Formats: sequence, structure tokens, C-alpha cells
Amino acid sequence: MKQIAVIGAGTMGNGIAHVFAQSGFRVNLVDISEKALEKGVQTIEKNLDRMLAKERISAQDKESTLQNLSTFTDMSAGVEKADLVVEAATENTELKLQIFSNLDTLCPKDCILATNTSSISITQIAAATSRPEQVIGMHFMNPVPIMKLVEIIRGYSTSDEVTNRIMELSRKLGKTPTEVNDYPGFVANRILMPMINEAMETLFHGVAGVAEIDTVMKLGMAHPMGPLQLADFIGLDVCLSILNVMFDGFKDPKYAPCPLLVNMVAAGKLGVKTGEGFYDYSGSSKAEKVAAQFSE
Ligand code: NAD
Repeated sequence: MKQIAVIGAGTMGNGIAHVFAQSGFRVNLVDISEKALEKGVQTIEKNLDRMLAKERISAQDKESTLQNLSTFTDMSAGVEKADLVVEAATENTELKLQIFSNLDTLCPKDCILATNTSSISITQIAAATSRPEQVIGMHFMNPVPIMKLVEIIRGYSTSDEVTNRIMELSRKLGKTPTEVNDYPGFVANRILMPMINEAMETLFHGVAGVAEIDTVMKLGMAHPMGPLQLADFIGLDVCLSILNVMFDGFKDPKYAPCPLLVNMVAAGKLGVKTGEGFYDYSGSSKAEKVAAQFSE
């Protein structure tokens, strides 16, 4: 594989483009928004500069990574020669089905189509194409250049050959791929989200305050970040949407989102991205502190 196309230049898309480009692949970064592409490339440059300052990469590495990147607003031009597409557009089922149906007609026949979805069924996405055996989940973690895990999700029809190629490719990126099957929440969010939800229930029932709950989990369980702070970092809207996918998928009340979470999302308190969630990030330096703590 040489030519990779990444669809979506947001939080995850620019990180995914970064790691492929840094590993020597040619990367076409595609977004419907010119502004998102500009911001995505700026973020990659900033992250490369940080790595350079920490002497993790050389000036030549930075230069060649940027040279491997091209940006496109026209999806057909961005994917026409792709060996692999990694889709990291907005988490919306209808949107992803439309994107995969388009990719199926625009990409070369042997191109593998991967999605970075946090929760949407890989099998459902694959069914929007005529090549379901070549569709797979490649669930990178945020921030992509730092986090080692890639959860590799096999849809109902994903072939062994495609799974093996994507596992091998992930290792080439310096990541640790872990193969899982396609059920709501996969493994990462099926375990993480109920824990975050239970932390919210604990707060909701007045068992302890925000700082106390996070301190118990940080110091008692050796978690690098408390569950409420992590929820702020992920985005409370994202947490709610993943819990709803599991609640709908399993029809099991154990995944029912905490009423406090539902209320906070309705009130627009989404965490770091809106300046307020369980913590107050109105001073931008605080938001930076959270991000820095997470990336250490
Ligand atoms: P984001 O909102 O930061 O970025 C999404 C980007 O997709 C935007 O730039 C938007 O312009 C673009 N987009 C929308 N429609 C498009 C289209 N038709 N063609 C091309 N680009 C389009 O979102 P994100 O947080 O980067 O999430 C992307 C995906 O990654 C989602 O599926 C999400 O569930 C998953 N994910 C997110 C995280 C996280 O922590 N944010 C972690 C793991 C997986």
C-alpha cells in the first residue's frame, strides 16, 4: 500500500493523516470544508513542531511528512488512486452510508475501505457498498499521534485477508492493532462508556463531588485521568451518542445514559470544546492543561 486517502480533516482525520504521512505513505486528506483542511494541516504542523522540540523527530522527518500530504475538497480526485481509504468524517449514520456508497463507485476495485467510527455498525456501513469483504473498522484513539491502540473491527463479511493486511499496516504505523468483532461499542467504548456513565450516576445520586470521583479513580485505580474529566475531553455529546447506540443496539437498560448527561448536552455544556462540562475551561489555559495532561 502506498496511497492513502483520509476522509474528514477534523480532530481524528488530521491525526490519522499525520501518522500515515510520517510513516512514509502518500496521503490525500479530503474534507468538504476548505477551512477544516487548513486547520487540519496547521494542527499537523504544530504537532510535528512539538515532536521536533522534544527531539522525537528530525527537521528532515517534519519536512518529508508535510511533503507526503495533499489536500482535496473534491472526493473523487482525492480517492481515485487510493489503495486504502480511512473515513473519519462526522459521526452520523446517514452521512457515513452516503460516503461509503460514493467511495464504492469512486475508488479502485481493490481499494480497502476503512472507517474510524466510534460506534456505528461496520456491517451496516459495509452493506452500503458492493465490496463488504473489503470494509473494516480502523478505530484510532485520540490523540492519534500519541495513542498506541488501533481497534480493528471485523464486520460480518470482512475477509481474513483484508483483516490481516490492516493489522500488518497498523504495525507499520508503530501502533498496536487489536482485532475485535462488530457489536455495539466494539470493545473500547463498551467498557469505557458504562464506566463514565456510572461516574455520572455517582455524581447524580450525590455520592461524591466531581473532584472526589475523579480523585478516587486516578489515585485508587491508577487511571491517568478521572472519568468525568475524560468525558469532558471526549465531548459529552459524543458520550451520549455512543451510549445511545449501545442502548438501542442491546435493548439493555444498563447502557441507558445518565439523566444528568442528557441534561448537560441539552444545555450545551459539552466539555472542553464548549468551555464547560464537569469542569470549567473558560480560561483557555485550563483547556490546554487538560490536553497536555492527557498527552503526557
Ligand atoms: P470532527 O467533527 O472533528 O471532524 C469531522 C470532519 O468531517 C469535519 O472536518 C467535517 O467537515 C468533515 N466532513 C463532514 N462531512 C464530510 C464529507 N461528506 N466528506 C468529507 N469530510 C466531511 O470529528 P472527529 O472527532 O474527528 O470524529 C471523526 C470520526 O472519528 C467519527 O466517526 C468519530 O466517532 C470518530 N472518533 C472520534 C474520536 C474522538 O475522540 N474525537 C475518537 C475515536 C473515533
